[in-house]
Amino acid sequence: MGIIKKLDPILIDRIAAGEVIERPASVVKELIENSIDANSKKIEISTYEGGVKKIIINDNGDGILKEDLPLAIEKHATSKISKIQDIESIYSFGFRGEALSSIASISYLEIQTRHKDESYGNQLISRGGKLISLKSYPCLQGTKVIVEDLFFSTPARKKYLKNSSVEDRYILKEIIKLSLSHSEIEFIYFRDEKKFFHLYPVKFEDLPERMNLIYQNKFSDLLLPVYFSKNQINIKGWIGKPRIERSITDKQFIFFNNRPVEIKNLSYVIKNAYGELLSDKSSPIFFLFYELPANRIDVNVHPTKKEIRIFEESEIYEYTIKAIKKTLSPNYPLKISEKEFFHKETKNNIESNSIFFPIEEVIYKTEIKPFEIKEKLEFYEVQKQKKIKSSFLPLRHFGVVFGTYILACNEDEFYFIDQHTANERINYEKIKEKITKQGLSTQYLLTPVILNFSLEEIDQIAIHKETIKKQGFEVEIISKNSIAIKEVPFYIEEGTEEKVFLKLFNKMIKGIPDIELYEEYVAMKACKSSFKKNDYIPSEKISELLIELSKCKDPSRCPHGRPTMLTISRSKLDYLFFRTGFKK
Ligand code: ADP
Ligand code: MG
Repeated sequence: MGIIKKLDPILIDRIAAGEVIERPASVVKELIENSIDANSKKIEISTYEGGVKKIIINDNGDGILKEDLPLAIEKHATSKISKIQDIESIYSFGFRGEALSSIASISYLEIQTRHKDESYGNQLISRGGKLISLKSYPCLQGTKVIVEDLFFSTPARKKYLKNSSVEDRYILKEIIKLSLSHSEIEFIYFRDEKKFFHLYPVKFEDLPERMNLIYQNKFSDLLLPVYFSKNQINIKGWIGKPRIERSITDKQFIFFNNRPVEIKNLSYVIKNAYGELLSDKSSPIFFLFYELPANRIDVNVHPTKKEIRIFEESEIYEYTIKAIKKTLSPNYPLKISEKEFFHKETKNNIESNSIFFPIEEVIYKTEIKPFEIKEKLEFYEVQKQKKIKSSFLPLRHFGVVFGTYILACNEDEFYFIDQHTANERINYEKIKEKITKQGLSTQYLLTPVILNFSLEEIDQIAIHKETIKKQGFEVEIISKNSIAIKEVPFYIEEGTEEKVFLKLFNKMIKGIPDIELYEEYVAMKACKSSFKKNDYIPSEKISELLIELSKCKDPSRCPHGRPTMLTISRSKLDYLFFRTGFKK
């Protein structure tokens, strides 16, 4: 007898469940999506012990017909597509008919439902995918799905789950995503019987009001609106104001045709579009909604549909950059191609520990013909391999051009020095030295600073109380969504307590070591006390500045990583003017 057998259908479902249902949050997501697909106006979500014990999703949507109810928990049973062509243009969340069957196979499942065209409801109960009972049941129009004892039949998967509070966080993220993509639906979320939030319907334009309920009261103050439309592609939504420094990416949302999706490249493009307005290490906030004809994306590439394929990726990227740049600055200060080039060079230079920025960058920005750029790049490669000296002292300077750049030279080099970043570097090293000598002490605030946080964030603060204290902050949680800062490190200036604390908070969540907070603060302070663009600096002061810069440990860049200087060597100039071959 042959040894190849067809798998038992329940076993097939359990295997499929591994793909679709990774953790309780996946159940919450799938069930809410079903409620949305069923035209619900109101969805109530209750979870118990991180969703492992029990999840209840109750909606007032179309309901399920009596005859369809047993089919709902069968694999590949769906009311959403029937023809093969339908898969090319999907607007509903579900279409694979896998969610309920997968959930059923690994839990105790109960569905109470009444279809809008039926006068009486029905109830289905199953355990481990086996139908236990199906009978009439009195209920209102809509569907209530109760999932208990999740993963009871797949203990290995259950072991992988994290503690309730981590699972709760995953669940919350799914609820947030879907509640942002459907502002017209009312959402109520209870966690372990406590009401977590109640979101009333709002118009799309008023979505920031919903965000205020989800995050903290004034969250919408941090946002700027985005709108861009071209070639049947609409991009709208909100992005964080520049300079809001966050090291975590928890407030980054992308929606395609109202479907929350994760597209790493696109997130990267969005961050890049901020350019210098955001430091390298920090992450922007964004809530971007893309609308385009359904046949220009493929949503059927991932079992849980969180990834999609976009057919005209580069077009989407281009419009995204334009949309963000339009929001951040109405007159586009920097060409993106320049920006990318710049970033590449910055990285190389950090690696080679050089104070030099290659001449190619200067050339690039002054529009010399392309073939010349290419040629010079080769020379740059040669230069890069050499060990480059790390101190300098220009002997002469010739004043300032464009309100910003000091022109200077010594025997071998010509320098362009940015008066602001150079001054920042000097101040940074000075202040840092002073603070290092004084050590970390704290100061009491006469009036404590009160800050609002989401419930999730308050949890985090409670967990990390010790780390916070070590950094010189004494905080007290004074309500379910606010804290009072009572004591701060001595180096903090009045009025900056909130900003610095938020920085600490962001880093803490990511587990970044202590010293960084303090360094970044010093950088901030250095920036404030430095000459700015267009500040007039008298000639003697320029000389002083150059001498001080040459004494710095790392004179080549400002504390935020921007260059302080560009140089061009005498031999390179000779070469460029065809006086000699290039030697250096
Ligand atoms: P899919 O959503 O991919 O169709 P599911 O397994 O999630 O597959 O659901 C199977 C079917 O059960 C759906 O196509 C729908 O007809 C029905 N259904 C599930 N949940 C609901 C709900 N909350 N309200 C109405 N119908 C539902
Ligand atoms: Mg579904």
